[in-house]
Parts: sequence; C-alpha cells; structure tokens
Amino acid sequence: MRKRNAIILGAGVSGLTCGVRLLEAGFDVRIAAYLLPPNTTSNVAPAYWYPYKVAPRDSVLGWAAFSYGKFVDLSLIPESGISMSPLLKIFDQEVDEPFWKTAVKSFRRARTDELPEGYVDGFVTEVPRIETPVYMQYLLNRFTESGGVLEKLDSETVSFEEISGDLPLLINCTGLGAAKLCRDGNTFPIRGQIVIVKNMGFRRIISDESGKLAPIYIVPRNEDCVLGGTAEENDWDLSIDPATSEEILNKCIAIEPSLADAEILGHKVGLRPGRTEVRLELEKLPGGRALIHDYGHGGGGFTLSWGCAEEVLTLAEDFVSRNET
Ligand SMILES: Cc1cc2nc3c(=O)[nH]c(=O)nc-3n(C[C@H](O)[C@H](O)[C@H](O)COP(=O)(O)OP(=O)(O)OC[C@H]3O[C@@H](n4cnc5c(N)ncnc54)[C@H](O)[C@@H]3O)c2cc1C
Repeated sequence: MRKRNAIILGAGVSGLTCGVRLLEAGFDVRIAAYLLPPNTTSNVAPAYWYPYKVAPRDSVLGWAAFSYGKFVDLSLIPESGISMSPLLKIFDQEVDEPFWKTAVKSFRRARTDELPEGYVDGFVTEVPRIETPVYMQYLLNRFTESGGVLEKLDSETVSFEEISGDLPLLINCTGLGAAKLCRDGNTFPIRGQIVIVKNMGFRRIISDESGKLAPIYIVPRNEDCVLGGTAEENDWDLSIDPATSEEILNKCIAIEPSLADAEILGHKVGLRPGRTEVRLELEKLPGGRALIHDYGHGGGGFTLSWGCAEEVLTLAEDFVSRNET
C-alpha cells in the first residue's frame, strides 16, 4: 500500500492552505519553498475576498464560494486575522449584477448618496477581510502544530525531481515561479503597488476596479489602512516607484478626501501570479508518480485558496486510492 505522503512546493497562501487541508485529511506533508512568510507575495496582499483578475469564471465561482464559507468560520477565531467587513464596489457607469453575487451573504445596490462624486453605480456587500501578515502566520502555525514539516530552500528549484525524491505525490503551489519552473508561457506577473497609511478610523473597504483610474482601493485593517493600486500586466519590476505612490494617494483622496491627512507608514510592491486561467490539474509523472498543479490565481489567491485546496485534496485522494489497489 502506498503511504499518504505529499510534498508541496511553495509556502504562499496556496501552498500553506493545501498543506493544512491535506494534513488534516491524514496525509504526511512537507512544504518546501524558497521564500517563506513573511517574504512571499501572499504577505504583500491587503487583502479581501474578491475574485479579481482570475479565470475561468465557473470554476472561480465555485472555489470562491467555498472559500467564503471557510473564511466566515475563521472569522470566529480572533488569532486567524480574518474578520467580516463591509465592501462598497463603485462604478462610473451602470453595471449588471456581478457573477459572484451568489457567493456572498448579503448584497444590494448602493444608494446614490453612498457613492463618491463621479460614480453612478455600486454594490454593497459583506466580505471576509484577510489581515495577511496575521493570517499567513496563523496558517503556518496551524500547519506545523498539526505535524507538517516546513523546509526553507537555499535557492529556487529548477526541476520537480530535485525536491520530490521518490515521493509519489508532489503539489505545485509556486505562483508566479511556475512561469519559469514549468516553462509556462500562460503565466505572467500583474504588478501591484500599494501605500500603507495609518488607519484613521475607516471600517469599510471601497474599491473601483473598472473606472478610468482603476484599480483604486482603500482597505482598512486593524493596525493600518492599505491604499491601492496598480495592476500592470507583464511588469516584473519589484522596486517602489515614488510617482506611482503619489498617484495612488491622489486617486484614493479623490474618493475619500480625509485621507489627505493620513500618515504614511510604508510602500510595497507585489507581483500577482497572473494566468490565462488557474491551473488546477493532475499531471502523471513517470514511475506511477503524480504532480498536482495549483497556481495562477492572479488577484484572487486568498479568495480561491480553500476551494482550490479542497479540489487538490480530491485529486490527491483519487490518486492514492487508485494506487492502493
Ligand atoms: C498588491 C496586491 C493585492 C492583492 N490583493 C488581493 C486580495 O485583496 N485578495 C486576494 O484574494 N488576492 C489578492 N492578491 C493576490 C494574491 O496575493 C495572490 O494571488 C496569492 O498571494 C498567490 O499565492 P500563491 O501561494 O499562489 O503564491 P505566492 O504567495 O507567490 O507563493 C509562492 C511560493 O512558491 C515559492 N516558489 C516559487 N517558485 C519556486 C521555485 N522554483 N522553487 C522553490 N520555491 C518556489 C515561493 O518562494 C513562495 O513560497 C493581491 C496581490 C497583490 C500583489
């Protein structure tokens, strides 16, 4: 009988969530990664539940809805860094109902008096807000406390064979790293720069994803407030551009004028792992081994994390049971 052993490559939100899910389903799991929290892209995200720049729509809806439910449960655990937050989506033209409407607990059209100047339509809903530095540490603790093994690699792996040894099951959660590792031309960076300011008492997330100056978002967190942003496709530049920070501030002040007095705490850049569509599939390797891919989550890696991990678990269970007989 094959042992239920798995190795996961990648310690961002995808790798850690898969790690936790597989461990809790009885697998022995090792996660190996070049970057560990707090140095992953996942740690840069503000973040909140929202399926942004991620495809295909039908699968995304299922994964996002499943994750929404998990995050609602996690919001009852104070140390998870998850809380439910009001979200106001704003539009400078009239829009149809969104495809994700069925995934959220409450949904209504915004009243005109709720919209900032220049906006004509909006949605008001409630979404999980993910305080990423806290949540990533929570996931990591949950993984190691359940017996998971975490290994920091000295460099980026260049082949799956290099790290999997003779283990039967490997899970690829390398995010943007998959572009090089899998020679995957469908994977590309979507650069995001953010400004972090002191939270002046805001509670509600506000976001414009489609207007002339989009993306614009204000994400209040417990200790600070994240202002965004940018979504520059195929831009690999991780350095902070001061002119972009200035633009971000101005865009957010136009929506929320009191931000003009906000104390700036810092600036960050992250590269979202863009892909034509999420790659979630099992690839058969020589010698009866398997490689499950779970990457390419664009601007929605947290939003899809639990749903994708559940599907990874199903593929892993199928693989193990087929090899047991
Ligand atoms: C500014 C910004 C805002 C965002 N806002 C949101 C939001 O509000 N909501 C949301 O859901 N998402 C948001 N995102 C997107 C989200 O952050 C990503 O989709 C998510 O972090 C991807 O997670 P991941 O685990 O797949 O990849 P990553 O976090 O990048 O982790 C990849 C892991 O794989 C490792 N790795 C890669 N290649 C190799 C290799 N060859 N060898 C060894 N290790 C390797 C890395 O070291 C790392 O450990 C945002 C992103 C940015 C940048």
